Amino acid sequence: MEAVKTTAERATKLKTNQVKAYGTVAAETPLDQMDIQRRNATPHDVEVDILYCGVCHSDLHTARNEWHGTTYPVVPGHEIVGKVVSVGDHVTKFKVGDTAAVGCMVDSCRECQYCKEDLEQFCEQGCIQTYNSPDKHLGIRTYGGYSERVVVDEAFVLRVPENLDLAATAPLLCAGITTYSPLKHWNVGPGQKVGIVGLGGLGHMGVKIAKAMGAEVIVFTTSQSKVEDAKRLGADDVVLSKDEEQMKRYAGKLHFILDAVSAQHDINAYLNQLRVDGSLALVGAPEEPLPVAAFSVIMGRKSFAGSMIGGIAETQEMLEFCGKHNIVSDIEMINIDQINDAYTRLLKGDVKYRFVIDMASLKK
Ligand code: NAP
Ligand code: ZN
Ligand code: ZN
Repeated sequence: MEAVKTTAERATKLKTNQVKAYGTVAAETPLDQMDIQRRNATPHDVEVDILYCGVCHSDLHTARNEWHGTTYPVVPGHEIVGKVVSVGDHVTKFKVGDTAAVGCMVDSCRECQYCKEDLEQFCEQGCIQTYNSPDKHLGIRTYGGYSERVVVDEAFVLRVPENLDLAATAPLLCAGITTYSPLKHWNVGPGQKVGIVGLGGLGHMGVKIAKAMGAEVIVFTTSQSKVEDAKRLGADDVVLSKDEEQMKRYAGKLHFILDAVSAQHDINAYLNQLRVDGSLALVGAPEEPLPVAAFSVIMGRKSFAGSMIGGIAETQEMLEFCGKHNIVSDIEMINIDQINDAYTRLLKGDVKYRFVIDMASLKK
């Protein structure tokens, strides 16, 4: 009861608004409508009326506590685009009526070495994620984009290029930056063969971005139904990973692999696709460990690495890059009350390639 009292006290001091949201109270419970509190914009805050929110597999992992770190209730959603409806007195980047976007983080300490290097995602104090993180303003948890509105410090609010479709831009805020950042970090470009493993929300963005960076892109998929489609997205070749013969085609040939698979799979089969000095970066975050055989990396001096989203400056850079290259996500729009079905389909790899929630469906 103490926590409730503290929250209520802080909320009274700061003035909050009740907004409608969609979330869950337990791992086994479907998502349903609930009310949450949002603070009124403080001097550096931007209040965003949410138009669209992408559905990331991390939303599902978190809602079902698959990473064992969820505090309930949880309201997922970190691929947010919308319109600014109010701003604090000191806000300079945004004004009422602007389009704005919010991704996976809403704050960080801003003082540690990593925050100073524009790597807020690795903040030494722990970055404040858009949902399921401590909310330092209200003393509760942060609640994500499956909601009517969100209030975020302007330092963590992004600008959207004007030429891009808004709904299809939402997934760039996580799937876009999570693939752009490692592709850039590992210097993907012309003359390189790059593998993308898992053609889901992240994977399909990885294909588009790696292609725009000038690489030759090879998709590895478990889904026969995605083979032709991957080429439409820009892949130069597609390997059906269940077929042992096809898996031999690029063995020892790839410079870099981005692994965006959400579930258990044999990582060694992909390390074997790398050429000498090649790197595989994991962005997929399956619940269980992925055993790496020593000889998968010893042979060929290979690197097995990982990457997590990207900093705020790099997220803005990625949005500009996508604006310049006309890159958005391939989306299937849903209403908020279809979210539980969407999660079921996500688990089957049955979406081409990102569900985006039309948040008008929550406001009715
Ligand atoms: P998604 O849309 O569900 O895509 C995952 C893809 O993985 C599926 O489309 C499928 O591709 C493949 N796959 C699924 N189950 C598989 C299995 N049992 N064996 C082999 N392949 C399988 O998910 P997402 O939103 O792109 O997210 C992917 C993963 O990245 C999730 O674990 C998510 O939490 C994580 N993530 C990490 C970060 C980060 O910062 N590192 C950021 C966002 C998300 P095919 O049909 O082509 O085989
Ligand atoms: Zn995500
Ligand atoms: Zn920090």
